[in-house]
Amino acid sequence: MAPDSARPAILAIDQGTTSSRAIAFDPSGVVVGAAQEPLPQHFPRDGWVEQDPEDIWRTVLETSRQAMAEAQGRGFAIAAIGIVNQRETAVVWDRETGRPIHNAIVWQDRRGADRCRGLVAGGAAPAIRRATGLVPDSYFSATKLEWLLGHVDGAGAAAGRGALAFGTVDSFLLWRLTGGAAHATDATNASRTMLFDIEVQSWDTALCAEFDVPASVLPEVRDSAGAFGTTDPAHFGAAIPITGIAGDQQAALVGQGCLTPGMAKSTYGTGCFILVNAGGVRPDPGEGILATVAWRLGGAAVYAVEGAIFNAGTAVQWLRDGLGVIGESAASETLAAGLPDNEGVYLVPAFTGLGAPWWDASARGGLFGLTRDTGAAHLARAALEACGYQTADLLEAMGGPKGVGRHGFGPRSDSGRLRVDGGMAANDWLMQFIADIADAPVERPAMTETTALGAALLAGVGVGLYNSLEDAVAATWRPDRIFTPSMAADRRKALRAGWHAAVERVRSGG
Ligand code: ADP
Repeated sequence: MAPDSARPAILAIDQGTTSSRAIAFDPSGVVVGAAQEPLPQHFPRDGWVEQDPEDIWRTVLETSRQAMAEAQGRGFAIAAIGIVNQRETAVVWDRETGRPIHNAIVWQDRRGADRCRGLVAGGAAPAIRRATGLVPDSYFSATKLEWLLGHVDGAGAAAGRGALAFGTVDSFLLWRLTGGAAHATDATNASRTMLFDIEVQSWDTALCAEFDVPASVLPEVRDSAGAFGTTDPAHFGAAIPITGIAGDQQAALVGQGCLTPGMAKSTYGTGCFILVNAGGVRPDPGEGILATVAWRLGGAAVYAVEGAIFNAGTAVQWLRDGLGVIGESAASETLAAGLPDNEGVYLVPAFTGLGAPWWDASARGGLFGLTRDTGAAHLARAALEACGYQTADLLEAMGGPKGVGRHGFGPRSDSGRLRVDGGMAANDWLMQFIADIADAPVERPAMTETTALGAALLAGVGVGLYNSLEDAVAATWRPDRIFTPSMAADRRKALRAGWHAAVERVRSGG
């Protein structure tokens, strides 16, 4: 145990799709301990993705112990734990033994796709959207839970007897960490199950009936910061309070300090996830944009709208691994910056279809405007520019009057700031281009572990280390660099027109 003089730190358990990590932060957001372990994935059939919950548990326990030991070695004591997790992944376990009845079904798993197509064909989409803010899709937990209860031997009957517990990964970890004392989740994770009414903030009885989910299997839904329970001393040698939980993208919104309506965070990795703070009234965004809970405090939900770009870093990967025109991803920056202009070359990286606002799954990519002078630099520039155009299109789609538009999100509004993270955020040229083309200041933080930081901030609020999320962000969020829009409006318009013309040409109907 740490001595009384130890300074407080918060441990964020960051349970992701491909690895489990634990990061200890001091109250100013400095990392004082960290550990990471890969997480095996299983692909039992085409489109099926599973993980062993015991692997999830083991890697969380090991990394947490390592990060804690490192923090303690530096004179810190863990005051609280926050959990942030891969969203939507479903686990069902036996309440008596604590043992999972089957592997976890991971968010990427498509086994519920036909079921969701059936729901859409049967006209269920509007009601699902009204209650949950989601579009019927097998990414969300509902069809995974339905499958587990319907296909694992005896599970349906056991669930009926109240013998089973369902949880997203946060919930399963909370149960294990507390030695079975707490079966709960937070409102952000609940909002990804497709079973939770995000306005009323309770499980939706009609949807639970639709998916044959008895109320007894569901966790209690709590605020994202507050008392979730304390760790069984067997795990870490002490009873440590668990006081914050959030899904990964929502935690990043908090870690990026996007606390006022209209502030957005965008994570540029393989794909790109944009969340915009939509304030305290449930938004009703346009087609293909999700409404979701950003966090819940004191029983009051703050909402976000969420949109995804399927292919962001993949375009750069394609140049690197597919074409071999660049040796490493970072080389795209110097190449792109070396040209005065895109010289009319556009790449539409619709490798797997087009997302919002087009929603065209059968569209495929295209490369336009080639001349004999087109070289590697044009390709690199077009790949990076595509990321900027897609960001601008998505932000526009998210800013409609029923989305976040009522808060003035959009060009030049004070609230229309975009905070960035992810692998591609290191590319200065790209960040400036995004600021220019989206006509919004782009802010890159010094601390890029925004998901883990978000969980730590929620836990810090929950344990009383900070008085509010605002205080927590003020203590921890620092800019590394701010990119200010400087492109002339007519140039922006011309570039976007060129992009939209290219998009028209790859659309399946176009
Ligand atoms: P993920 O978590 O989705 O696996 P990361 O956040 O690690 O992804 O980002 C990796 C992606 O970012 C890759 O597609 C890579 O090509 C791209 N990338 C990394 N560094 C740069 C860079 N400097 N410029 C452009 N793209 C980059």
